[in-house]
Amino acid sequence: MARTVLVVEDEPKILDVVRDYLVDAGFSVTTAADGPAALASARAVAPDLVVLDLGLPGLDGIDVARELHRRSQVPIIMLTARGSEVDRVLGLELGADDYLVKPFSPRELVARVRAVLRRSGGSAAGDDHGPIRVGDVTVDPSRRTVAVAGRPVDLTATEFELLAHLARQPGRVFTRSQLLDAIHGVAIESYDRAIDAHVKNIRRKLEPDPHRPRYVVTVHGVGYRFADTEG
Ligand code: CA
Repeated sequence: MARTVLVVEDEPKILDVVRDYLVDAGFSVTTAADGPAALASARAVAPDLVVLDLGLPGLDGIDVARELHRRSQVPIIMLTARGSEVDRVLGLELGADDYLVKPFSPRELVARVRAVLRRSGGSAAGDDHGPIRVGDVTVDPSRRTVAVAGRPVDLTATEFELLAHLARQPGRVFTRSQLLDAIHGVAIESYDRAIDAHVKNIRRKLEPDPHRPRYVVTVHGVGYRFADTEG
């Protein structure tokens, strides 16, 4: 089944080109030209990915991204007219997965869309209970087991949820508050620092050298990600 991409862009020429390239690449494409229309479309079609222009009339791209992520983990690729906006776009309170600065090559956009979908594969498909394998780490959500290079690792329920959430999207950076959301119900009393404590425990059990983590990596000032490449 074709993956659905929602493209949000108020400049008709860019919208047309992006849509044409994505359709040619085999995606099913829905479009919107402003923020409210984007949110309505997202609700109606539940896209697998959103390509979102930062500079929209009215409700801007930042607000739209925030609103989208309030309801789902849909991956977002931001389009921005200014390189100087990039820090803000990737400032992960916003949670964009990738970005392109205009003018960009539509071919490059298609490549990025594919890459982000590949990275987010498991979770975008919903409840995928098959084992998650990243490098030599295996996380099996149905059995609730974790192994590193075949060696079983014993995690608490909260640690397991946290690790599974990170490992489902290797390379993606999560803020502490996103990780708190991910373990909702398990750690109601928790605040951001509780995430640090859980991560510390996970590292102690998982990492060959907990002081130089290979798997669960700190992103300073932001949060954590599961390493997608060998560091
Ligand atoms: Ca614009």
